[in-house]
Amino acid sequence: MESYELHQLSNFSIPFASLSPGFHEYQFKVDREFWLVFDKAPLKESDIEVLLKLEKKPRLLELSFDLKGTYRADCDRCLANTTFGIEVSHHFFVKLTTALPQKDEDPDVLFLSPEETILNVAELVYETILMGVPIRFIKEECEEGTVDCDHKVLDILDAGGTEIEEEEKGSETETGVVDPRWSALLDLKKDLPKGDSDIEK
Ligand SMILES: [Zn+2]
Repeated sequence: MESYELHQLSNFSIPFASLSPGFHEYQFKVDREFWLVFDKAPLKESDIEVLLKLEKKPRLLELSFDLKGTYRADCDRCLANTTFGIEVSHHFFVKLTTALPQKDEDPDVLFLSPEETILNVAELVYETILMGVPIRFIKEECEEGTVDCDHKVLDILDAGGTEIEEEEKGSETETGVVDPRWSALLDLKKDLPKGDSDIEK
């Protein structure tokens, strides 16, 4: 099994030592390869464009990230893997110093030895993405009770031994009339005589 490490995201490496003072711009793409490195993340797939504006000052780099795109994650409510939008910006400061950082230092301030020449910003991009994703992934349509991301729940309910007829399930999912009281209905159905699986419309 191949293992993926940060250095494999070499396109995120900035040879800052050789940069002239002033502003520099970079563009990155956060796609599947990125998540092979950050494999503990709740995301596995994304199509996120990253714009980085870097200002090089004496002993300091100012990094300004603007991220925009989409990612896929499992809806925490219905478990369906679905697409979410993301738009997030964040600033980091990188101090070039040999002085040890203080314990309660600002998390947005990083320290790098002046002897370093390359900064890989993949971890900073990762942190910025985490700032832009919700604690719970809930597809908007799921919250509203419309049908889009409820297919999997329907499948799970079916697999659970309840006798929902295929035809009925089809009409339920295609008309966009998903009853938000699903679990209540399921409980109700358990008490119904076998064969009587008519779902309230
Ligand atoms: Zn959902």
